[in-house]
Amino acid sequence: MQRAPRPPRRSTTPTSATFPSTDSLPPTTPTGTTTPKPLYLCSPFVEAALVKGNFKTIVMLPKYADVMEWVAVNIFDFYTNLNQFYGVLAECCTQQSCPAMAAGPNLNYTWINQDRKSVQLPAPTYVDYVMTWVQNLLDDDNVFPTKSGKEFSPNFPSTVKHVYRQLLRVFAHIYHAHYQQILHLRSEGHFNSLFAHFLAFGKEYELLEVKDIKGQPGVPVGIGALWEKWKEMGILES
Ligand SMILES: [Zn+2]
Repeated sequence: MQRAPRPPRRSTTPTSATFPSTDSLPPTTPTGTTTPKPLYLCSPFVEAALVKGNFKTIVMLPKYADVMEWVAVNIFDFYTNLNQFYGVLAECCTQQSCPAMAAGPNLNYTWINQDRKSVQLPAPTYVDYVMTWVQNLLDDDNVFPTKSGKEFSPNFPSTVKHVYRQLLRVFAHIYHAHYQQILHLRSEGHFNSLFAHFLAFGKEYELLEVKDIKGQPGVPVGIGALWEKWKEMGILES
């Protein structure tokens, strides 16, 4: 199976030794305050979709396909689509509008810097680090082999889980902070379908941790509620 050609490399590169963080800062605002229900949970937006029905069939491993190759192809597609969406939203995601990588009323993701310290970054910087990091992995033939006969590394499953977690954070930030712009572009059907596909695929191949989708007690991820809602609606498997 051949993957589509890769998009041009992004021009910016993260500092040499930065690593995506696996944890988040404690709440930065008091909990218990009532926040209005996010628009992405409201009708008709919550059910907007390009693909009707359940995603189970489109995530299934095609006959004769290698599971690693199938995961690689899908990650490439999720990354490419998400990168394009973010590219359109980028003018609204600035250091001023998004001084932190927020994904819920009390949740700001942090990045592990070269000193292994957890640091808060403006969302556009954080997203750029994630996207550049993933692009570099996709371009690395030792991680995502493209030549026939070249095997996937034994580390591949753990690498792709890490990639998945970071891409989830980008989705989470867009839903939390830029859903208005998605609506403005009338792309809610497209974006919802992309995200539902991403979740269904991640669940099927065990690339996602429930705690990363839902967050911690008192520090929920905004999209955790969307995930629950889509399960109730039968869009995702429960
Ligand atoms: Zn933003």
